[in-house]
Amino acid sequence: MIKYTDSHCHIITLSAHTPMIFGRICNAKYESDWEKLTQIASDKNFVCLGLHPWFLDGRSNDWDKKLYTTLMHNPKIAVGEIGLDKHHPDMQTQQDVFITQLRIAYELSRPVHIHCVGAWERITGIFKRFGKTMPRMVIAHSFNGDAEKISQMIEKYNMYFSYSGKQIARGDRKTIERIQMTPLDRILVESDTDTESNEISELDTTLRGIGDIKNIPVTDLSEQIYQNFQRITQK
Ligand SMILES: [Zn+2]
Repeated sequence: MIKYTDSHCHIITLSAHTPMIFGRICNAKYESDWEKLTQIASDKNFVCLGLHPWFLDGRSNDWDKKLYTTLMHNPKIAVGEIGLDKHHPDMQTQQDVFITQLRIAYELSRPVHIHCVGAWERITGIFKRFGKTMPRMVIAHSFNGDAEKISQMIEKYNMYFSYSGKQIARGDRKTIERIQMTPLDRILVESDTDTESNEISELDTTLRGIGDIKNIPVTDLSEQIYQNFQRITQK
């Protein structure tokens, strides 16, 4: 049996249509998602609240207080999707908001779920400055950084690396290298979808792609990824 776990999606309302999903991490895109997401949080639906770097314009004046208070009242909710994206405007604001969210995650001892495009140097520079006040765990969504740095990132920042069907479909040399360099106990798969309708098919493509690259049967891989998922979400 394949155990499907979705380590990055934007599903904010749930139907009963995907019983095959063993667990998922539902990330906020907008501040207006927070309330709905808080309501669906459960052992199976692990929720992350935060401000996504693409959608900072609509944030409220007291978003940081609101985030802190909501997290305080919900000890099992993490921080995400947060990060930096070089293709989006105003890097300074992106960085300020990102740093505030890292601080909140550290203070409340929550994992962070990261979006990063073309800015891993900048992000690891920020992590370095956080030093001993880094959040306790980092999940990188659709990881597209330097494959050579993966083992170092695991050691320094307790990182997990999630891959998507889109990355598998591209099948480029760098994606293959990243997956090869990611240890089995640190690898995750994701749909990055907004709806349940294509969730399983995205996860299936990703699992099969990674299974081929790492030469491991899909059922074994899905079991390993399920164990990784449990380790992240059950603390
Ligand atoms: Zn996302």
